[in-house]
Amino acid sequence: MKTDCIQLDHGAGGRASHELVARAFLPALTNPILAELNDAAAMTLDGLRLAMTTDSYVVDPIFFPGGDIGSLAVHGTVNDLAMRGARPLYLSVGFILEEGLVLADLERIVQSLAAAAREAGVQVVTADTKVVPRGKADRIFINTSGVGIIPPGVHIAGQNARAGDRVLINGPMGDHGVAVLSKREGLSFQTELESDSAPLNGLVAAMLGASREIHVLRDPTRGGVATSLNEIARQSKVGIRLEESRLPVRPAVTAACEMLGLEPLYVANEGKVLAFVAPEDADSVLAVMGSHPLGREACAIGEVVEDHPGRVVLETEIGGTRIVDMLSGEQLPRIC
Ligand code: MG
Repeated sequence: MKTDCIQLDHGAGGRASHELVARAFLPALTNPILAELNDAAAMTLDGLRLAMTTDSYVVDPIFFPGGDIGSLAVHGTVNDLAMRGARPLYLSVGFILEEGLVLADLERIVQSLAAAAREAGVQVVTADTKVVPRGKADRIFINTSGVGIIPPGVHIAGQNARAGDRVLINGPMGDHGVAVLSKREGLSFQTELESDSAPLNGLVAAMLGASREIHVLRDPTRGGVATSLNEIARQSKVGIRLEESRLPVRPAVTAACEMLGLEPLYVANEGKVLAFVAPEDADSVLAVMGSHPLGREACAIGEVVEDHPGRVVLETEIGGTRIVDMLSGEQLPRIC
């Protein structure tokens, strides 16, 4: 494999993506805000704390069970703002269209994008369209950027995990990745599973109403829960201990992963949030999550420890331990 060219691995959100950022982007672009490498940047303007983020969507297929590239482009960006505790307000949308895209498909995607924005309470306030010749893109790619306001007193960042924090998740892992793969050409398996793609800002607002001791929030998208937890362990210089018996996975995801040779811990989610909460507030935050439609299956999956800083360790169901590393290699190209 050529090492001097971009590989699919570089887009997988795991180790190769991090290496690419460190080699090609950070040296040229770095500043204190970018260097934090959080889901959204946080900036203070005239006393107002703004969150800003951007993301591009290249999912294949463009329509999948539980969503499409239009709703995904809203949810992903709204969620990255929510992961700073921000109230998402405004989005920009850039469309890159391939010559030959069926107009009815574009209209369906735009309707879905608009419905997702209404549901999340955000407005698309600026947009752009480009068309490239047939074969120079795959039907449609979408970029969205978003801005929101971080309420006073909310300080959530990947750097803020501390020993003792409980690690919570709002439901089972891997639904999005498996739902998208189930419709991919060349991979034929049947599942009733739908993507978990959803806007998390309402759930996060409810959680913040229950506790100001929420230290970290992260949506485990590409690279899955395992990669997100490794990022947080490194950013906060803490260890994370997971209990295998507590990791929530639907039977349909377990079955699909076994067939495809995947691990649910590494499969993408688009409606999940990992929350690091001070131990004294963990139960009240879990209760609030459990009474929200997007958190009915919320549970605690582990805790932050002083041991093994920068590493995530899994206590297995048979009583052993193993290190859970970041995703390495390309597991699922074009999953989001
Ligand atoms: Mg994110």
